[in-house]
Amino acid sequence: MELRCVNCGVGVQRLLVQYSPGNIRLTKCENCRAVADPYVECEFMILLIDLILHKERAYRHLLFNLLNQDSIAREGILWKSSLIYFLADIYRTALLSGEWNSSKSSLFSVCICGKVLGEVFCGNLSFFGFLFLADRVFLDKPKSTLDISSFKTVFLTILLSSYFKIFLTSMMVWEFPSSAIYIVDVLGISSNYMALKALKQLPNASCIGVVLGAHGAKFLISACSAILSSSFCF
Ligand SMILES: [Zn+2]
Repeated sequence: MELRCVNCGVGVQRLLVQYSPGNIRLTKCENCRAVADPYVECEFMILLIDLILHKERAYRHLLFNLLNQDSIAREGILWKSSLIYFLADIYRTALLSGEWNSSKSSLFSVCICGKVLGEVFCGNLSFFGFLFLADRVFLDKPKSTLDISSFKTVFLTILLSSYFKIFLTSMMVWEFPSSAIYIVDVLGISSNYMALKALKQLPNASCIGVVLGAHGAKFLISACSAILSSSFCF
């Protein structure tokens, strides 16, 4: 992926010109005439706050100008974020099931464990399956060949934009009401939408439709999986 202007999303050749160590000048975008990426000079905390505020330009900086630099580091981030994402999702599903506190037999615990894992696996399979199809049909130009790299970018975008959801979910160890998870879910949907919009630069309706469709598919399949596994366990 090429470097992008964070304001308008148009490709730029470089983000800064370095005259000497510590002496740099940020380049301007030829399309919008603004500084192409002011985050280059900002502290990481400023970027983090803008990501929490769901600013599209912050996502553009993260996806195109920061992670774009090193493909090996990018692969590493993809694997690590996947692991953290799935662990947080297992924890979230376990909290929602609300059956971990019961002092029942070990067979019952194994059943609950299998139920949670099945729910997470089926839910995420449908979630990312929907995104994979949507990436080919709605989000990208039609192609005759299978473009895995395009989907990997979407996959990474969704994982990274779920960081806030993962963080808030992990805070549930302090016994928040489990209904708070649904508020966290809404925030997660909102950040997924903004990140996808920053990545693909498509009309709002397409990105909202894809994100809501993927989350809807996950919810339905997870619910079906929970009902099926309950009928086997009890
Ligand atoms: Zn621009």
